[in-house]
Amino acid sequence: MIIAVDGPTASGKGTIARALAAHYGLPHLDTGLLYRAVGYQVLLAGGDPDSEADALAACAFPPTLLGDPELRSEATGGLASRVSVHHAVREALYERQRAFATQEGGAVLDGRDIGTVIVPEAEAKLFVTASVEARAKRRYLEMVNSGREADIDAIAADLSLRDERDRNRKEAPLRQADDALLLDNSDLSAQASIDRAIALVESRITPRR
Ligand code: C5P
Repeated sequence: MIIAVDGPTASGKGTIARALAAHYGLPHLDTGLLYRAVGYQVLLAGGDPDSEADALAACAFPPTLLGDPELRSEATGGLASRVSVHHAVREALYERQRAFATQEGGAVLDGRDIGTVIVPEAEAKLFVTASVEARAKRRYLEMVNSGREADIDAIAADLSLRDERDRNRKEAPLRQADDALLLDNSDLSAQASIDRAIALVESRITPRR
């Protein structure tokens, strides 16, 4: 079974995708991490994330980069959003994601275009979202709890900017696939949204009587 989980930044799609993978015993790929690695590699190489040629060259990042904690930072998220607008970058990362998705036994992938571009044939597609306020508050608590300084208004502004860029880009914009089930978790706890996600997937894979 292939499960596609798409949605905006800090919507909780990663947590949900990991929980679905554990629940169904499937491998999981966080596709955002690939774009983050490309963005960070451009920086390391002294390139320009807005240059398609520089971003394409960075797609050959060393595999060990995927374990670098710096990939998880807000700054790298911003770089990822910039390099991900380039057609050549999306094309370079396509095969890797496609191969993961179509491996024997199935997989769970989360990102922005999994249900629309990478695996349009996925059996179950979820579009996970939440209000900007709810997402900013979660990100803020995450940062403060890990001992970092954070400004909730700056986080909300940054989330809105990235949403806007991801939704309005020409290449594979963030949008809910026609056959994706919507999960708005603005008012749900992490566990409640995981339970809801499992129920939604079940509604797709259980044969109707
Ligand atoms: O999900 P995450 O915040 O790690 O993604 C970082 C950025 O990578 C997103 O803002 C988006 O621009 C890009 N991305 C993408 N397509 C994906 C996954 C991530 O364009 N499938």
